[in-house]
Amino acid sequence: MYPKKKVAPQKESAPKKVLKEEPKKDLEEEAEKSGKTFELLRGFRDILPEDQGRWNLVRDTIRSIAESYSFDRIDLPILERSDLFQRTIGKGTDIVEKEMYVFTDPSNRSVALRPEATASAARAYISHGMLDRPQPVKMWYLGPMFRHDRPQAGRYRQFYQAGFESFGVDEPIVDAQLIVIAHQIFKQLGLDVKVEINSIGTSECRAAYLTELVSYFRAHRSKLSEDDKRRLQKNPLRILDSKEEVTRELLQGAPQILDWLDEKSKEHFMKVLEFLEEVDVPYVLNPYLVRGLDYYTHSVFEFVLADDTGDGSQSALGGGGRYDGLVELLGGRATPACGFALGLERIVRALEAKGVNPPERPQPRVFFAQLGDASRRVGLKLYEEFRQAGIPVAEAFGKNALKGQLEAANKLGVELTLILGQKEVLDGTIIIREMESGAQEIVDVKKVVGLVKKKLELDKTVPFSDTASALILPNS
Ligand code: AMP
Repeated sequence: MYPKKKVAPQKESAPKKVLKEEPKKDLEEEAEKSGKTFELLRGFRDILPEDQGRWNLVRDTIRSIAESYSFDRIDLPILERSDLFQRTIGKGTDIVEKEMYVFTDPSNRSVALRPEATASAARAYISHGMLDRPQPVKMWYLGPMFRHDRPQAGRYRQFYQAGFESFGVDEPIVDAQLIVIAHQIFKQLGLDVKVEINSIGTSECRAAYLTELVSYFRAHRSKLSEDDKRRLQKNPLRILDSKEEVTRELLQGAPQILDWLDEKSKEHFMKVLEFLEEVDVPYVLNPYLVRGLDYYTHSVFEFVLADDTGDGSQSALGGGGRYDGLVELLGGRATPACGFALGLERIVRALEAKGVNPPERPQPRVFFAQLGDASRRVGLKLYEEFRQAGIPVAEAFGKNALKGQLEAANKLGVELTLILGQKEVLDGTIIIREMESGAQEIVDVKKVVGLVKKKLELDKTVPFSDTASALILPNS
């Protein structure tokens, strides 16, 4: 009944493009031994100014697409009660078992740094009575998540996710549109991403399937790794995304969840696929995709770089699915819902691999060179006027000599430098220097903002004034 586009279980292999290898050694331990105590915690990182261009591009793209699909921004707390995650993500999952930052706060309450935000979004939906608003309630968020996982390239202990959640409608079009939204984000960023999709049905049909799956693997128990034996006992669905070679081979003959879906689940899934075909979003059926968290039902999906042949873990740029039981599980009225989250570090890394490197902010086109304290005082005010006019101005306040300042201006590649010496301060004038030609003119300081604005935007209509006395300084 399904299009025959199944993928074979993927072999484990190293991610193709490892751009910035994570330090192999534990810097924390090393630093402590050497007495240098203020190293970064392992798995945590600074996102430096030079990387902000790419980050801004990703954040701005996500925001503009969220708004264009009428999703409203929600900011959720980073710290929540730990049972919010334990109850929803599931006890047998890696996140809850091994990766959560849980601690007791000063009020003696067990709290956790959020490992993901879907449970928080569902909690907010209930806390704020959003069930009474027109459905679906569509919200998006962006912020840091925390998982005490083994750090490696593309895997951090603090990482950023942007998530989209749609509450209140069980129609397959919701699942499909969420996938379309993610697809549009990747498309706008210039990333070629494939959608892997599966259905894990309702908890009832999953239970019947799991009985079958467990009995299949029990027959091969002796071949399984300790980890997979544990999974088989605690959370057998996780066997499907095991990275163990033996398990992957065994999976080829294992029962597949798609064959165990009830009619309603099959119909839901088929409709999602039909919608995707309708809007030309290419997808690949992956019968081994289960997404690891307990709250998922029906559609589950992941976004992977199209040219990726990795193991599908560090390479996934995002993932999501339907979670029709989550709101009820948290004490709200039964509310169908669906959503996805994107991993920003991985998206930024993919852009870096493609050589995308936009400037972190608009490049300044004007430089302000000052000569002496009186000029600095005027300069401070002038700087503010330029800022209000929307013209970014660069400076080198630490340098005194004109030569050094002009060198700095040249390095920045600005078009104009404003030079303010003591004489100009006394005369109420300022020099505008065109960097390329070296031509200079003296103008009334009160008019300089307007003149610069014209020069930069309507350059050709404002020739160098011949009313101003020409003063050519020696080229630096
Ligand atoms: P998940 O819901 O756990 O699949 O997470 C969604 C996305 O977040 C993944 O596809 C990754 O892109 C990203 N992600 C998850 N865990 C990490 C991590 N430890 N470090 C960096 N990115 C992560």
